[in-house]
Amino acid sequence: MTIKIKQLVKTYQAHTDFPVHAVNQVNLDIAQGEFLAIMGPSGSGKTTLLNLLGGIDQPSSGTVTIDGECLQTLSDSALIRFRRDHIGFIFQNYSLLPVFSALENVQFIMQLQGLPDNQCAQRAEQLLSDVGLAAHIHKRPAQLSGGQQQRVAVARALASKPRFILADEPTANLDATNTQELIHIMQDLNQREQTTFIFSTHDPRVITSAKRVINFEDGQISSDIQQ
Ligand code: ADP
Ligand code: ADP
Repeated sequence: MTIKIKQLVKTYQAHTDFPVHAVNQVNLDIAQGEFLAIMGPSGSGKTTLLNLLGGIDQPSSGTVTIDGECLQTLSDSALIRFRRDHIGFIFQNYSLLPVFSALENVQFIMQLQGLPDNQCAQRAEQLLSDVGLAAHIHKRPAQLSGGQQQRVAVARALASKPRFILADEPTANLDATNTQELIHIMQDLNQREQTTFIFSTHDPRVITSAKRVINFEDGQISSDIQQ
């Protein structure tokens, strides 16, 4: 799944007398199987860029094209389907459903895709076990630690077998051990399935693990390095 970003701009007018160009004329090509870190100071536009990439937000101008499909030309319902079928999100404000157990939170995504219930349950259990939560599948989010909740979110993002996964500061609430585990889960999936990962981060351990690192400053790419 190739991603092409052309002349992308997102301008906010709210709360200030002058507009904020959160994303300012960005061009970027991302190939299938990349493991890409976006770093940069707070307020530099990383979250806005991820929201545009995932079709959660629409740009002021410019385009995001994924495998030839321009997100800006899709209808709302087609965009929702596209997101559901192709993109996994690990976002802090894309939270787990509080009244559902860990298992139900992961199952739910596959049920939306129309998979039979018994297959959903089996795969959800497997995914939760893969992220080290086999003993906690029946707990609700409030009964889990921050790190455990983050791992449920990872299992949920993987449930629909997306070709690419967007993560906003995926290790922000994790201790060193959980951070290493999450990096391993992502790297393993990247190598085995060629799943594309695009994540914003401040974490030096996550940055070291990336194959490509983009530095974002004032809504623009200030460096783009393969490592
Ligand atoms: P980062 O993720 O790098 O911290 P953001 O994308 O959250 O950066 O924000 C980039 C800039 O856009 C900041 O100046 C922020 O205040 C502004 N911004 C982000 N979202 C909004 C919004 N919904 N309304 C107004 N300004 C926003
Ligand atoms: P991050 O953790 O990436 O820095 P923030 O905490 O800045 O994210 O933003 C959280 C949410 O608030 C985002 O959905 C963003 O779009 C929105 N937001 C950020 N800055 C502003 C702003 N100045 N005005 C309104 N909404 C904002």
